[in-house]
Amino acid sequence: MENVHAVFNGTFDNLENIKISPLSRAYTFSDSVYEVIPFHNAKGIAFDRHIKRLQKSCNSLSILANIDLISKEIIELINKSKFKDGYVYYQVSRGVDQIRSHMFNADISTETFGYVVEHTFEAQSLKVMLCEDVRWQRCDIKSTSLLGNIMSMNNAKNSGCDEVIMHKDRVITEGGASNVFFASNDCVYTPNLSKNILPGITRELLIEKIKASGINVQEGSFKIDDLTDAKSIWLTSSTKGLAQVIEITNQETNIVVDHPLFLECEKIFKNNFLS
Ligand code: PMP
Repeated sequence: MENVHAVFNGTFDNLENIKISPLSRAYTFSDSVYEVIPFHNAKGIAFDRHIKRLQKSCNSLSILANIDLISKEIIELINKSKFKDGYVYYQVSRGVDQIRSHMFNADISTETFGYVVEHTFEAQSLKVMLCEDVRWQRCDIKSTSLLGNIMSMNNAKNSGCDEVIMHKDRVITEGGASNVFFASNDCVYTPNLSKNILPGITRELLIEKIKASGINVQEGSFKIDDLTDAKSIWLTSSTKGLAQVIEITNQETNIVVDHPLFLECEKIFKNNFLS
């Protein structure tokens, strides 16, 4: 079959042929978790780490998942697509209930859906807006319940911005769909892992690789005022890679575009994962 870019409950098909039930709990409650697995030259980037995080997200919500089968489906999607660069979106939901009820039936079957998207990993420069983090208290779970992110990112879009940097009582958490890094005084800083942020795979890889090359990295609790002194700020994600912040519309900054420390981190990342 040509152009098979999707898989639903184990069956590969074209995206437009897939039909889901309106009683899928993914539809009624966002009772589902997901992963975005990037690939370069048809090979998954940090594939095992994405699979491990998906398993962890499922475990956090007691969603049963056959992770070996899911891994095989993701690899098959990449291979069937014949795209050189792109990503697989893969979602695992609790399944279809007989009636819409918050308390789920224990015997429903997990519902899985994945599709592949062609994507080129090009450098992006972002205009961002600071905003209060209005999300729930388990942002470490990669859940499809993303209304807080959606509200903030669309407010930002309406103000001509590309992303947000969120904070809880002035303490930086993360981007709307990314993790935050900044650099000053020859040191790279990023918020430490907590239930308030997603443990980003790009964040983890970058920290490992730049530390190994001798760059000083500090994970900790940082305030939005720290961004004013930063010489460089960037956001990380599987689809963006490292994306420089060139302006924060509602805060003064002293950003130097293409700061040497950013360029070095970007080079290390590209050499390791995109060469
Ligand atoms: N935080 C949030 C809220 C995100 O949506 C993402 C992107 N999925 C990230 C961080 C970055 O995670 P990763 O590097 O694993 O893509």
